[in-house]
Amino acid sequence: MSTLADTPLAYVDGQLRMEGAALSDIADAVGTPVYVYSSEYIVDRLNAFATAFAGVPHRVHYSVKANSNLAILALCHAQGAGFDIVSGGELSRVLAAGGNAEDVIFSGVGKSTEEIDFALKVGIGCFNVESPGEMARIANRASVLGTTAPVSIRVNPDVDPKTHPYISTGLQQNKFGVPVEAALDLYRDAASNPTLSIRGIDCHIGSQITSPEPLLEALSCLIDLIDKLANEGIDIEHVDLGGGMGIRYSDETPLDLENYGRQVADLMSGRPQQILLEPGRSIVANSGVLLTRVEYLKVAGKTNAPNFAVVDAAMNDLIRPALYQAEHTVVPVTESPAEEQNWDIVGPVCESADFLAKNRLLALNEGDLVAVTTTGAYGMVQASNYNSRNRACEVLVNGDAFSVVRRRETIEDQLRLERLPDET
Ligand SMILES: *Cc1c(COP(=O)(O)O)cnc(C)c1O
Repeated sequence: MSTLADTPLAYVDGQLRMEGAALSDIADAVGTPVYVYSSEYIVDRLNAFATAFAGVPHRVHYSVKANSNLAILALCHAQGAGFDIVSGGELSRVLAAGGNAEDVIFSGVGKSTEEIDFALKVGIGCFNVESPGEMARIANRASVLGTTAPVSIRVNPDVDPKTHPYISTGLQQNKFGVPVEAALDLYRDAASNPTLSIRGIDCHIGSQITSPEPLLEALSCLIDLIDKLANEGIDIEHVDLGGGMGIRYSDETPLDLENYGRQVADLMSGRPQQILLEPGRSIVANSGVLLTRVEYLKVAGKTNAPNFAVVDAAMNDLIRPALYQAEHTVVPVTESPAEEQNWDIVGPVCESADFLAKNRLLALNEGDLVAVTTTGAYGMVQASNYNSRNRACEVLVNGDAFSVVRRRETIEDQLRLERLPDET
């Protein structure tokens, strides 16, 4: 399997391109480190969902937290996608990008009163309620604001998604959702409360799931509950299956979307509910690269000690390797005939956890550009100012053209919110 499979990247005359744009031209124009995303790839992925789920009424609600740049949200909106959000900040982003509140689903275990009020005032599509306390608070706020709140309950089906423990969310030990038995009672409460309007049922069992079984097991669990609710006269309009579709970082077998879609259509056949999907990673991860330049090469003095390539991107730009033991492919931007050596690709941050990749065979010189692939999801959104580093800029490619969709941060941006204490 080529390391560039499932990406918008290809070498043309030894130069790495995204769509029709040479990545070295982008680095020369805007500097490094820089995140670069492919618009064509994102559109292709949204189309792949439409094809895979053609057998069942459905809608994709792009999960904003994977990559919340306004340009990406505007692109998803233009393709007809709705959104799945986890904060009031993300709701503001969707609205700023031209999206509609009624196309938004609001997930998350800790919605504040302020966030609930904001969502109710702009006319949110649905709240995915994660606890009895949250349901009571949403009902109360809707009543205070003289409106009704559209709700869906996030059920925790207690299935193991077989993924990294930090991105597993549908097990009893996870903080997310309501156990199945408790969900039934909560629906009864909601049905008897005139300020709540029951819309759907929801689950999201984890992320980077590569086999359809746990996802289908979760759907079966929701269907059982829908039938129990129907017996009590409580009707459900939509079934939200969450996101979590696994993708290829290096040699993983991605979730077979067509197969998943077909099996969902089979399980739902004869049922009136619309299927909602909340993919994040599987829409944007492989659309993006983090471009970084080699600052210094530190060749091992002793055998068995690693060689270090110190690059200008660091864990504050991309924390996934340190946080989730993620393995991102690293490729040269210009192909070189020189002999390859083993390198640990590390950043300038003062932490031993500051690495982007370990033990990679590459031919590197100081000043070379490399691309860290599959970084369109959970990359820039988790960037920080650790070590007072300015956050990277972001570029969106379209054909052979590209636009800066977030300028590089400056030290003035970083200092703006801080003050010395008043003299006493
Ligand atoms: C994070 C999240 C998603 C998206 O997950 P991916 O693995 O990126 O597809 C969808 N729904 C909810 C509720 C989430 O928290």
